[in-house]
Amino acid sequence: MTFQLQREKQLQNQIPRRQWSLQDFEIGKPLGKGKFGRVYLAREVKSKYIVALKVIFKEQIEKYRLHHQLRREMEIQTGLRHPNVLRLYGWFHDNERIYLILEYAHGGELYRELRKSGYLSEKRAATYIASLAQALAYCHEKDVIHRDIKPENLLLDHEGRLKIADFGWSVQSRSKRHTMCGTLDYLAPEMVENKAHDYAVDNWTLGVLCYEFLYGVPPFEAESQTDTFRRIMKVDLSFPSTPQVSAEAKNLISRLLVKDSSKRLSLQKIMEHPWIMKNADFMDTCSKLQL
Ligand code: AMP
Repeated sequence: MTFQLQREKQLQNQIPRRQWSLQDFEIGKPLGKGKFGRVYLAREVKSKYIVALKVIFKEQIEKYRLHHQLRREMEIQTGLRHPNVLRLYGWFHDNERIYLILEYAHGGELYRELRKSGYLSEKRAATYIASLAQALAYCHEKDVIHRDIKPENLLLDHEGRLKIADFGWSVQSRSKRHTMCGTLDYLAPEMVENKAHDYAVDNWTLGVLCYEFLYGVPPFEAESQTDTFRRIMKVDLSFPSTPQVSAEAKNLISRLLVKDSSKRLSLQKIMEHPWIMKNADFMDTCSKLQL
């Protein structure tokens, strides 16, 4: 067992036994700022384990009446254990703040990488799509639909392994859902129309992401929200001539961006798709950590 893993075990073992408080952590540099608070690098004093501490102001949560959503996010994420899903080790609160003890993703947001390089190579894109398909298959097995997969919610660890974060919009349910949520560009047609939707919304989003990884922009981007809605509803999909993208990648995208959700490629079929088989580095997806 590596030193890091040993420390993770130590940290986990303490969770059921004790109530965390701010005194248990040394706070380091700020890592980022979200809608409802800040995230800091932190170290658990006893085990020296490095984590990311997300600090959320209760006032903000109450103002936007988000306590149910936050509680749901925390409950869902604590129960998930997958190498491509960001771990939530625990949480605690004081009078003003709620603190989430999160796995530290040293590589930061995938979004930043994408903006920096414009678009990704087919190998990297395929590796990320394979990681996402595996993580989503795991979530779906546990009856969790993420519904808000987008580059900002995807983090990278110190080895470049992708981690799905932010379960704020996810739901745990067996039945078809009706609520409208998620970010415009990544919304499946059934969500745009506010129709009942199920797991297949995440598969649509994989198609959108695959396109964005390879071309640098999401496929249905438009000047206005109304135009994006319209383009999604029509599945107005076109592939620019640059950058050059292989026919196999386009085939995968076209088979995910399908209006009829029952006809979208399943997560299993994504894993078996020739483009994934040819390009994905499976050592970088979940199998690496299961060794
Ligand atoms: P959020 O409030 O979750 O949107 O987080 C705000 C920013 O903090 C993100 O955009 C990331 O850059 C950074 N961040 C959040 N969680 C982590 C984490 N677990 N590890 C490293 N950076 C993080």
